[in-house]
Amino acid sequence: MNRVVVLSFDCELGWGRLEDGGWAEMERAGVYRRTRTIVARLVESFAERGLESTWAFVGSLVGDPDESPPVDHLPPQYRTAVQRFVADSDPASRSLADLTPGLAGLGTLLDLGSHSATHVRPRTAGADREAVVADFRVSLEQLAGVFGRPVRSIVFPRDEIDHMEAVGRLGRLSMRVPGSSYGTPGSSRGHRMWRMLRRLRRGPEPAITTVLDSGVRTQTGSLYYNWAIGGTASRAVRRRLLKATVDRMLRGAGGEGRVFHVWVHPFNLGESRVLLDDFLEFMDRISRLRDRGELSIEGMAPHHARSLSSR
Ligand SMILES: [Zn+2]
Repeated sequence: MNRVVVLSFDCELGWGRLEDGGWAEMERAGVYRRTRTIVARLVESFAERGLESTWAFVGSLVGDPDESPPVDHLPPQYRTAVQRFVADSDPASRSLADLTPGLAGLGTLLDLGSHSATHVRPRTAGADREAVVADFRVSLEQLAGVFGRPVRSIVFPRDEIDHMEAVGRLGRLSMRVPGSSYGTPGSSRGHRMWRMLRRLRRGPEPAITTVLDSGVRTQTGSLYYNWAIGGTASRAVRRRLLKATVDRMLRGAGGEGRVFHVWVHPFNLGESRVLLDDFLEFMDRISRLRDRGELSIEGMAPHHARSLSSR
C-alpha cells in the first residue's frame, strides 16, 4: 500500500472545559448538541465507507449521564468541578451514551481509545502522577465495560504526556504524542509561525512510530485539523494554510510508504459550519484516494499492529 492516513478523534464534549468552566458558554451556544449530530453522521458515513479510525473518548461520556464518575482519585478542586459539571450541565454536554451503540456497531473499524476518564491532566492544579494514572485506569474500565473490548489507543488531554510511561503500564497501548513541529501549550508565537511556514513548504511531518522499552508504542501527530481559531482574519489565513498543507500531504509530499496522523476534535466541527464542510470534503477526498488504492485510512493501534508485525 502507498501512503497511510491515520485518523484520530479526541472526543470530550464539555469534559474538556471543566477547569475554566468554559463548558457553560459552549453549551449555551449549542456546540455540544451540534457535535453529537456530527458524531452520529460521521459514524454512519464511516460504516458505509468501511473506514477505520481511532476514537479516543473521555470515559465518563459513555456511562449513565446522571451518575457521577469515580472522583476519589482526583485533586479536590477538580473533584468539585466534576461534581458541579455533572449536576449543572445538560446531559447532551456530558454524555454520548445514546450514541455508543452506533459507535460499537462500527466493530473493528473503531479503534477504541481513551482520552482519560475526566480530562484531568498533569498540569491540572493539584494533580500528581497517581491521579493521572488512576484517571486513565478508570477510563479503561468505563470504556471496556460499555464496548465489551479493551482500549488499545491513548490520547492525552491537551497532549500532556508527562506520565506516559506510568500510563503505559496499564496495558498494551498505542499513544499519540507531540511531534517536533507540534503545537504544545506554551509554544511561542514565533515557534507557531515557524511551524506553519515549514508545513507550507514541506507538508506536514510524517508520523513517527517508536516502541519504548516498556512495549508502549507511540506515534507522533502530523496535522491537527482545525483552522477555526482566533478572529476572522486569522481564521481566513489558517484556513488557507491548512488547505495548502493538506494538498501537500495528499499530492505526495513525503512519497511512498509515508504515514500521516491527522486528528480532529469533533466539538471544533460543532463550532464552525464552514470547518465542518471543509472536513467532510477532506474525508470525501481521502476516501476517493482510498478507493483508487492510493492510500489507506487506518486507526492508530491497528496501524501499529499491521506495520510492526511485518517488520
Ligand atoms: Zn481533550
